[in-house]
Amino acid sequence: MSLLVVGSLALDDIETPFGRATAAPGGSAVYVSLAASYFDTPVRIVGVIGEDFPREGLAELEERQVDLEGLQVVQGGRTFRWHGRYHYDLNVRDTIKTELNVFESFDPVIPPTYRKTPYVCLGNIDPVLQLKVLDQIEKPRLVLGDTMNFWIERKRDELLETLKRMDVLVVNESEARLLTKEPNLIKAAKIMMGFGPSIVIVKKGEHGALLVTESTIFSAPAYPLENIHDPTGAGDSFAGGFIGWLARTDDLSDENLKRAVIYGSTMASFCVEEFGIAGLQDLSYLKVQDRFREFRELSRFDEVEIA
Ligand code: AMP
Repeated sequence: MSLLVVGSLALDDIETPFGRATAAPGGSAVYVSLAASYFDTPVRIVGVIGEDFPREGLAELEERQVDLEGLQVVQGGRTFRWHGRYHYDLNVRDTIKTELNVFESFDPVIPPTYRKTPYVCLGNIDPVLQLKVLDQIEKPRLVLGDTMNFWIERKRDELLETLKRMDVLVVNESEARLLTKEPNLIKAAKIMMGFGPSIVIVKKGEHGALLVTESTIFSAPAYPLENIHDPTGAGDSFAGGFIGWLARTDDLSDENLKRAVIYGSTMASFCVEEFGIAGLQDLSYLKVQDRFREFRELSRFDEVEIA
């Protein structure tokens, strides 16, 4: 089944304790699409860039067969820019700068051929734009949404409107607490389910992810990596792997949602091994499968009877 991805296409300035990158192609839509593209399901992008977005960034998406018909290029415009700095504890990052640029006047237009897309991923972007996209899609089977502190703080009411139309919400720990004002993550997940989504995933960085539905709670570990170079895009890669697997299998049972969480964690683990989008290049479905299986071994244990 096909997947529509809306989100930012960005030029990122990234600083980690292990290096830095300037004007690196990134953005939520780019990470989500690249991660989802390994699941053999058609991926379509809706977003906007300026003339300064490098050709190599687009070539990367084209190479992964991502359909770019819904991408607007603003002549003379400047691409969205984000500058993030990570602490020694890579779970902590400061946003130094966010420049919306071409996103400030972006009016998403969904090409007619995209309007019946069954799986929709609303990547991190202004919730007003997320809603504009949804209004143009006919009865999607599943809508997954992501957001960020930036939007929770600035556009809370608009975000709450958009949440009513989401089936799955993916947020990290601090976003969950900010959105609900509840420190306990299980309680926070239940509060977020009250906002609309029937499935909530709370990402906990190197401590894994928590899936909460009406009928299940599932806690997945993160893949234990010795070398993490750049956590940028981990959350978006998680979302791409999660929804890529669901779009491929079209099975929304609790058991398949758990598999999707592991595929999400798998794609996030590949992403953080390299700087920028490099970790999502040159993978294969076989590599993804191998790491998925390693996840199973990570937390499998047996019970023995004591006589
Ligand atoms: P993640 O590390 O998964 O949270 O995503 C990082 C990506 O999100 C970067 O490539 C940024 O360009 C993008 N990003 C950061 N802030 C925003 C924002 N306010 N709206 C949309 N995208 C953003």
